[in-house]
Amino acid sequence: MNNKLYGNLIFELSHEGRRGYSLPHNKFGNYEVPADIRRSHDAELPECDELTVVRHYTNHSENNFGVDNGFYPLGSCTMKYNPCINEEVAAMPGFANLHPLQPAETCRGALEVYDGLQRALSEISGLAKFTLNPFAGAHGELTGLMIIRSYHERRGDTKRTKVIVPDSAHGTNPASAAVCGLDVVEVKSTPEGIVDVEDLRSLLDDTVAGMMMTNPNTLGLFEKEIPEIAELVHSCGALMYYDGANLNPMLGVCRPGDMGFDVMHINLHKTFSTPHGGGGPGAGPVGVRAGLEELLPGESEISVGPYHGNYAVLLRAYAYILTLGKEHLKEVGPLATLNANYIKESLKDVYELPIATTCMHEFVFDGLKDKSTGVTTMDVAKRLLDYGYHAPTIYFPLLFHESLMIEPTENESKDTIDGFIEVMRRIAREAATEPETVKGAPHYTPIGRVDDVLAAKHPVVTYRQMAAEGESK
Ligand SMILES: *Cc1c(COP(=O)(O)O)cnc(C)c1O
Repeated sequence: MNNKLYGNLIFELSHEGRRGYSLPHNKFGNYEVPADIRRSHDAELPECDELTVVRHYTNHSENNFGVDNGFYPLGSCTMKYNPCINEEVAAMPGFANLHPLQPAETCRGALEVYDGLQRALSEISGLAKFTLNPFAGAHGELTGLMIIRSYHERRGDTKRTKVIVPDSAHGTNPASAAVCGLDVVEVKSTPEGIVDVEDLRSLLDDTVAGMMMTNPNTLGLFEKEIPEIAELVHSCGALMYYDGANLNPMLGVCRPGDMGFDVMHINLHKTFSTPHGGGGPGAGPVGVRAGLEELLPGESEISVGPYHGNYAVLLRAYAYILTLGKEHLKEVGPLATLNANYIKESLKDVYELPIATTCMHEFVFDGLKDKSTGVTTMDVAKRLLDYGYHAPTIYFPLLFHESLMIEPTENESKDTIDGFIEVMRRIAREAATEPETVKGAPHYTPIGRVDDVLAAKHPVVTYRQMAAEGESK
C-alpha cells in the first residue's frame, strides 16, 4: 500500500477542479435558494477523482480491527460474531424504509416483530413484560431506575432516595442512578469478589429505593448469594434491579426473574449480536416482573422507529434468537463459560489471577505474575496488537491495579483460543527476556503507541486544527 498516496487525509489528496462524480442534468428548471439561507462561500469539500476516493477509504477500512478480522476478547463487551443474516434482515426495504409516523395498519409486520421479540425476552428472562424503547444499556438502567422511583412514589413513599450499587459495578450503574436523582451507596465486595452480604445488611433501611446488581458480576463471578440478597432487599421494601449486560453466560441456564429481580435491562447489542464497536448502535430493552407492567414507559401502537427504540438492532436480535432457536440458545452460556475458564486455567501460571474460582463468561488477571520486569498491562495489550489480536479490556474493573479482563464469547474455535493462549505466553516470555520490545509495542500497526494523556487533554479533532498545529511547529 502506498502510504504517501492513501494514508493521507482525503483533504490532502484534493486538487482544485478535479471531479469524481457529475450530477445528472437538471430537468426541473432553475429555482434559486433564497439568499438568507444560502452559504456565503462555497463548502470546503475535497476535490478528488473517483478511484482515489475508493482507494483512500478502502485502504483505511483495512486498518480497522473488527470481530470479522480477528479475535476480539474485549471483556465486559461481549464482542461475539454478528451473523450476516441479521444484516440482511435489518436491511430489508420493508423494514428499513419504515417511517416513524406511519399508520399502524401499514406496518403490521413490523409490529409483529415487536411483539415476538418482547415475548421472547420475557421467556428468556422470566419477567412479565418488556419495553423495547431504550437505546443502550445505560439508557435501560435510567429507564429501570425511573420505574423503581415511580413504584415508590405511587405508594406515597417519598423518602426512598438511595440506590445500592456494588463496588465492582460497571461505571454506568452509579452514573444512571445519579442522573435519575438518586443517591448512590456503595456495597463492598468480599475477598472472593462477590457482594458482601454483611456489609449490605448494614446499609438497608427504609430510605433505600433499590439495589442494582450484575450477575455474573463485572469480575465474571456468579453472585451465589442472590436469593438471600433479594430477600433482604425486598424485606426492607426496596426493589432489585438487574443489569443484564452479562446475560450471555446465563442464557438457557437460569433466569433473572426466577432469582428475585423486579426490573432489568438487556443489552441486545451484546447478548443478541449487533456490531457495536466504537460506541455503535445499541438497544437496552427493560423488563419488569408481574405487577409492575403499568410502570413501563407508554406504548402506543401507532408508530415504529425512533419513538420505539433502535428498530434495526431489535430486528437483528430477533433474527439471532430465531436463528438459534430455543434448543441452541441454551448452548450459548455453557460454551462462553467453558471458553473463558479454559483461557484462565491455561494462563494463570504466567498471569496473576487474583480470584481463583470458576468464572462465568469472563475473568480478570491482575497483570503479569512476574512484576519485576516493569512490563505493565498496557504494554501487554499493545504487544497483542503486533500479533494480530485485539486487546482485552484493561484497567477495568478498578478493583485491581493492572486489570486485564478477557471475554472470548462462545463463538471462537479451539484453534483460535489456543493461538491466543500461545501469544499471551509468548508475551510473558518476552517481558522477561526483552522487556523493551513489549514496552515499545505496537511495532507493526499503522500508528504506534499513542500518548493517551495528551490525546485526552489536548485532542486535535479537526483537519483545520491539525493544519494549524503543523504551522505552529
Ligand atoms: C456494557 C455494560 C453496560 C452499559 O451498556 P451500554 O449499552 O454500553 O450503555 C452496563 N453494565 C455492564 C455490566 C456492561 O457490561
